Amino acid sequence: MITLQGNFKRSFGLQKLSERLVRRLTMDRAAAVSRSADFALLLEPASKAPEGCLSVAVEGSGCEPSGASTFIELPRDCDHVTAGDVVRFEIAKQRFRILYRKNSDHNNFLVTERCDNYCLMCSQPPKSANDDWILDELFDVIRLLDEQTGGFGFTGGEPTLNDRFVELLKLCNDRLPDAAIHVLSNGRRFSDPSFAERWASIAHRDLMVGIPVYSDISSIHDHVVQADGAYNETIRGILNLKRLKQRVEIRVVLHQRTFERLPELARFITRNLLFVDHVALMGLEISGFTRANLDQLWIDPIDYQNELYDAVSTLDAFGIRTSIYNLQLCLLDKRLWKFAVKSISDWKREYFPQCAGCSVRADCGGMFATAKHRFSDHIRPL
Ligand code: SF4
Repeated sequence: MITLQGNFKRSFGLQKLSERLVRRLTMDRAAAVSRSADFALLLEPASKAPEGCLSVAVEGSGCEPSGASTFIELPRDCDHVTAGDVVRFEIAKQRFRILYRKNSDHNNFLVTERCDNYCLMCSQPPKSANDDWILDELFDVIRLLDEQTGGFGFTGGEPTLNDRFVELLKLCNDRLPDAAIHVLSNGRRFSDPSFAERWASIAHRDLMVGIPVYSDISSIHDHVVQADGAYNETIRGILNLKRLKQRVEIRVVLHQRTFERLPELARFITRNLLFVDHVALMGLEISGFTRANLDQLWIDPIDYQNELYDAVSTLDAFGIRTSIYNLQLCLLDKRLWKFAVKSISDWKREYFPQCAGCSVRADCGGMFATAKHRFSDHIRPL
């Protein structure tokens, strides 16, 4: 696990700063001073913080404040921070959160914690409070990102609940036209043709929306997402998006409620949604609501390999690009290895003691750190 948030180790001279700041770290002192509203200076080891900008150091680097400088020291386990990272500083609470890591391929921005689904296995349980400030902040974050950034994702909650999310994507298109963007959505908002048309009007050349479909039977999907009528809206949303030539990925989380009809779902997709751009079949993350609902969700992945192989074979035979996410190679039917992707974000990924000496570790995506709450008895070195 990589530390992305926590408390300041120490600070100096912050009294006049706003309550919440978002800054891109730079090692260019002149830029940090001339654009102090955008940048914070990441201090060289054993240096003193200059005046005129916010300076940031990591515990143990030997850096110190000086005179009228403003200075924040992050804890030692943040020694991965680097120039180009974007960080939120909450001054009164003395807390920080690293929002974007320049050296990571796994940057995802939370847009909101609100959602109109209430999935049994939601890893980010929805909250109803107005949190529009998060979206407001993302406009600042996107303006601060390096133009060379390769790509990132947006998650929720349900990002499309706020109309201004489309404006944020337009900003991405203007500022970062070469960045690949992935949006996780339940797809329901796209059942409104006018919203789907607004989405298409963004005209980003590398924008994909990942939409969960949990069954070929509407009542099963609606049960998994705990929302009556969701299935019909989601399928209508996918159809509207593809009518407008938008890129769509279907996501299926594999658990006790979804694995049995996986072969039927694959056939449903080939018959009705053959034009989707990608299908991701995903192992369960043991966090959020999953932990509360574990008894009705958990199945050892080794026990659904037949259904998984059947589904992947069907999708692949019809030419649909198909991937398996979050599943360890030692649990997967060897015929499925070529579909396995190292999908677990680097900051959430771990290899357990059982992995010691495993010959395929370099190719295996490991496990969610939260898998300590429940994982297969069949994890074993190969
Ligand atoms: S033992 Fe660990 S590294 Fe090896 S395949 Fe299993 S999970 Fe992956």
